[in-house]
Amino acid sequence: MSERPRLTVLSGPSGVGKSTVVAHMRQQHPEVWLSVSATTRRPRPGEQDGVHYHFVDHDEFDKLVANGELLESAVFAGNRYGTPRAAVEQRLERGEPVLLEIDLQGARQVRQSMPEAQLVFLAPPSWEELVRRLTGRGTEPQEVIDERLAAARVELAAEPEFDTTLVNTSVEQVAAELLTLLGVV
Ligand code: ADP
Ligand code: 5GP
Repeated sequence: MSERPRLTVLSGPSGVGKSTVVAHMRQQHPEVWLSVSATTRRPRPGEQDGVHYHFVDHDEFDKLVANGELLESAVFAGNRYGTPRAAVEQRLERGEPVLLEIDLQGARQVRQSMPEAQLVFLAPPSWEELVRRLTGRGTEPQEVIDERLAAARVELAAEPEFDTTLVNTSVEQVAAELLTLLGVV
């Protein structure tokens, strides 16, 4: 545990390996708490409601926004995503570290509302490798891949806004670096 647990944001282009790195890290350290976002995106095969996301429709998402229940929210590649506020605040009040895996727009909102947050950018070893990973995942049709790659160009250009950059060459190594940044090891 670090002396001052705080909120850590992990961002990076779609397909860079954020979920893979976080899953690897939590396999070894299940105590690392990751916020479960709300989204209007449809579940991918294997994704469970309440575990990977809270899958909601547009009306439910509107209500979360209207009631001030989201810490931040964004539209990404045609779907809406947001971080439920209450669970994050409870953990920070208890002095426990919090990890958010969110996009660039969300990271910027967190920087505004919580300047003490640490912002970590996960970068691909190369553009070609990012394309390979996003395509190889096989979870999206080509037009969605193209939309996500267009967003990736914007996200990669924003890397200097982050406090730390980790290059995802080795999942094991990045997971270890992230654990250190979180103050868990
Ligand atoms: P994100 O959560 O950032 O959208 P994923 O975790 O879904 O990305 O990873 C996208 C694809 O890249 C997956 O097929 C995953 O297995 C693969 N991947 C992740 N990290 C690496 C890595 N270091 N080397 C090779 N492939 C990787
Ligand atoms: P995916 O659809 O691949 O799960 O996620 C698409 C993008 O949305 C990724 O960059 C992911 O980090 C981001 N994302 C997931 N949850 C949230 C959230 O609660 N807020 C924001 N702003 N982005 C999110």
